[in-house]
Amino acid sequence: MNIILLGPPGAGKGTQASRLMADRGMVQLSTGDMLRAAVKSGSPVGLKAKSVMEAGELVSDEIVSGIIGERLDMSDTANGVIFDGYPRTAAQAEQLDELLEARGRMLDHVIELSVDEDALVDRIVGRYTCAKCGEGYHDHYKQPKVAGVCDVCGSTEFKRRPDDNAETVRTRMVEYRAKTAPILPIYEARGLVARVDGMADIDQVTQAIEAILDGK
Ligand code: AMP
Repeated sequence: MNIILLGPPGAGKGTQASRLMADRGMVQLSTGDMLRAAVKSGSPVGLKAKSVMEAGELVSDEIVSGIIGERLDMSDTANGVIFDGYPRTAAQAEQLDELLEARGRMLDHVIELSVDEDALVDRIVGRYTCAKCGEGYHDHYKQPKVAGVCDVCGSTEFKRRPDDNAETVRTRMVEYRAKTAPILPIYEARGLVARVDGMADIDQVTQAIEAILDGK
């Protein structure tokens, strides 16, 4: 099963994708994570993407579809993929169709996480992750049980994304509204879209997504 999680920054796509990965053995393909890894490694893609990402703008369609194509050729994706943060433009949606078709695969669901935009800045600006295991936390909504110590792995180092600041978030929202939201009708016309309330409790959102995947 191949699914897309679609929604503005801070809607919870990454959180839900990690849960589905743990529950169902599907593979999360996050172009944001892949690009951050490329920036960190200083690869040619990373060098091109760095300033664009810092500004909250979109990296080129060719770059992101290129890295998705390479990733889809790895055998661990055969059981199913959760696209997280991709596609983000109509051109990427078309490129994804081609990439899947060339590999004899298809899209099963597009799940839209609908959220109250006013809450997003607060969600994003407060979030951080464990530097070691990647567990997600939030200044207000999810603090570690023991202050400064990761619940999962015990690490005491945490990190924040450089683009998770109020100013960049606004640009990312504008990009979402202008370029990403318009791809929903394309998938709606194909009967693929299901909407989930992304403002609900994290567990409830997971349950709602699982129900869609199980056809309930
Ligand atoms: P994310 O982690 O999904 O919020 O993505 C972080 C940043 O990476 C975005 O603000 C963009 O600059 C870039 N990015 C991630 N995915 C894409 C994509 N599919 N198309 C273009 N840019 C992307």
